[in-house]
Amino acid sequence: MQRCDRCSEDAVYLRRYSGQRMCSEHFLNYFEEKVVKTIKKEKMLQRGDKVGVGVSGGKDSLTTLHMLKNLQEDLDLEVHAIAVDEGVKGYRADTLGAAKNFCSREKIPLHVVSFKAGLGFTLDEVHKKRSPCAYCGVFRRKLLNETGIKLGLDKLATGHNLDDEVQAIMMNYISGDVERIARYGSGDGKGGFVKRIKPLAEMPEKEVALYALLWDLGASFAECPYAGGTLRSKVRDWINALEKDHPGIKFSILAGSRKMQPLLRNAASKELKKCEKCGAPSSGSVCKACLLLEEINLKGNETLI
Ligand code: SF4
Ligand SMILES: [Zn+2]
Ligand SMILES: [Zn+2]
Repeated sequence: MQRCDRCSEDAVYLRRYSGQRMCSEHFLNYFEEKVVKTIKKEKMLQRGDKVGVGVSGGKDSLTTLHMLKNLQEDLDLEVHAIAVDEGVKGYRADTLGAAKNFCSREKIPLHVVSFKAGLGFTLDEVHKKRSPCAYCGVFRRKLLNETGIKLGLDKLATGHNLDDEVQAIMMNYISGDVERIARYGSGDGKGGFVKRIKPLAEMPEKEVALYALLWDLGASFAECPYAGGTLRSKVRDWINALEKDHPGIKFSILAGSRKMQPLLRNAASKELKKCEKCGAPSSGSVCKACLLLEEINLKGNETLI
């Protein structure tokens, strides 16, 4: 085992893109300092904010919650957790259990909202006609935002890490969705959206996994049964292969996208309208969630089996 570059302890982590070796203590310090730096740089939090964290019970969301809980006293934050139960058999119960345990241990109020109660169906019931992921993210964002508004949150934090961000950027490029590329990650909190923040956006996924393990956060490592074989999982594998040969390329993709966004925003962005059906902010006259709900209702019982 090689030694930490900063002390005589055994290294637990080699950061390939910088060549640094770190022991567990120096890794944890580095991780926390970098997340706090990102929060400050992007002006994500203000003193006294009421912050909700969308939690799944996985490593990313529990790490985000853990970091915000650490900052709670210094910044006088009110921290809440919101879990969305999509209704995926054999998966969500495990991750929700991890979220419940963590929140009760850390005395963080947890609000659980479900597809069944909020929309009238579970993801398992509607996935037959389309890929479940096509509904999942749209409805999850809808329920998180509505709950955030009900709770009077100033900010809504999610556990997106660097890998998630880079995958989303590449997916938006692939589908040529200029509007989304321009707006992605901005979550400016205007016009009916609770302001979104992503404190882990600059932390590689494997660093988040190591952090959650070293802190013993009790995160669930269960994988959604619908995750395999999707375009996103192929994009993930492709980016990981690139990163292996070119360490640091994930940071370059993120930085490149951030540089391009202001130019694209001027060229492409339309003013957000209000959805005619639910009043949520939308780029079209009806929002994506209402379009999908309409499709599900049209198919009626045929789909809801
Ligand atoms: S993989 Fe599972 S949790 Fe992720 S978007 Fe698809 S259905 Fe939802
Ligand atoms: Zn050390
Ligand atoms: Zn709508």
